[in-house]
Amino acid sequence: MTASPFPAYISTRGAAPSTDFVGALLAGMAPDGGLYVPASWPDLQGASGQSASAAARANAILTAFVGDALEADAVARASARLTDRFPGPEATPLVELEPGLFVLELFHGPTAAFKDYAMQMVAVLAEAAMAGRGERLLLVTATSGDTGAAAVRAFGGVDRIDLVVLHPLGRVSPVQRLQMTTTGAANVLNLAVRGDFDDCQRLVKGLLADPGLSADRRVSSVNSINWGRLAGQIPYYASAAGALGSEAGKATYVVPTGNFGDAFAGWGARRMGLPMAGLIAATNRNDALARALDTGVYERATASPTASVSMDVQAPSNFERLVFEASGRDADLTRGLFGDFARDGRVSLPGELLAALRREVSAVSVSEADTAQEIARTWADNGRVICPHTAVALHAARGLDRSGGPVVALSTAHPAKFPEAVEAALGFAPERPPQLEGLEGRTERFETVEPTLEAVLAAIGSR
Ligand SMILES: *Cc1c(COP(=O)(O)O)cnc(C)c1O
Repeated sequence: MTASPFPAYISTRGAAPSTDFVGALLAGMAPDGGLYVPASWPDLQGASGQSASAAARANAILTAFVGDALEADAVARASARLTDRFPGPEATPLVELEPGLFVLELFHGPTAAFKDYAMQMVAVLAEAAMAGRGERLLLVTATSGDTGAAAVRAFGGVDRIDLVVLHPLGRVSPVQRLQMTTTGAANVLNLAVRGDFDDCQRLVKGLLADPGLSADRRVSSVNSINWGRLAGQIPYYASAAGALGSEAGKATYVVPTGNFGDAFAGWGARRMGLPMAGLIAATNRNDALARALDTGVYERATASPTASVSMDVQAPSNFERLVFEASGRDADLTRGLFGDFARDGRVSLPGELLAALRREVSAVSVSEADTAQEIARTWADNGRVICPHTAVALHAARGLDRSGGPVVALSTAHPAKFPEAVEAALGFAPERPPQLEGLEGRTERFETVEPTLEAVLAAIGSR
């Protein structure tokens, strides 16, 4: 008899063996096509206490999720990155704009977007996992900008791990490209693909399935469905609740949403006992989620480009986790729905499920005009420059009644990452924070490749 892993992770589709934290981290997607969730959600216990530091909260929460799968020391080193790689006493400061209206600033990490927070910790955990197994790991990821930058900064120089990042040539912003291509890390290969983001995603799927590539190493991805990244986003909700103190239980969180990872982390925080009154996913005009909750039909549309580019998502991958939970963990139902969705691009949500989903979250969609207006208003009224993703959330947040408790909009990127959108709204470009200074002066390293698996494999092989 083998001991069952602790804590165990199960697939939302119910047809994969359970695994431990490291198994879920290294696999990304479960072998049955589902997403990993904890077999039972741990309790937050002390992690939302008022005095704890960001690193202490992360350590408590990640320890509960990692359990026996890694040494306690690895989790402590991962959590310490919130102190080492984020300036200031609070990794994610909670700023009050107006009485009862807050922004939770998640962009103070190395690449000035919220993906740094979890990615920095996941890199340490993955390095420890590979050292424990004596194996090498090849991570491949497609990016439209922010994910690749965060991954390069987190995994650059990490032992036993190589990283290949595919971005669409000429379709990421100059700042985003420079963040990926100028670190000089020997274990990172940047590929500029002559194609679009969908080509990059298709090529990553091909790499993950390529038998030659995985013959002598493990091959995986760090995309937004990875359980490690999700677990790593829960601690900042605990930090926000700690900062709000006695008001925390009345707080509504408004989350700028693309793949629904950030918002699902908020759902998880509440599931673990964090005091919270409400959770709202704010999307741009790519509103599949808002339409699903409104009409009961979940339908893939063609992604339409917006100023909040990191949220231009047509089928939010983490929605499957919410469906699984809201259905009372009905894996058969989840498997049926998402199997149909993959085939048809459209499914009707059963009435009972729809009612349950609406009890868990609400969703609103914000237009491009309202996004630009929000950037202008926040500057005029509050003297702060915000990025377009933050503006989507803040616009939705301002529409809420604050008499019942505080409203917290999550702020996911520094405005200087998106200077064009900010300048269009304000007439001036945002100032760069220290971590975005001097990028232009550095040597860039990337290879341009045709959008074929052969070309990408050749680039990886020739290193
Ligand atoms: C990735 C990203 C988002 C969306 O987060 P999801 O977890 O995919 O919903 C929002 N804002 C910024 C700046 C991002 O990079």
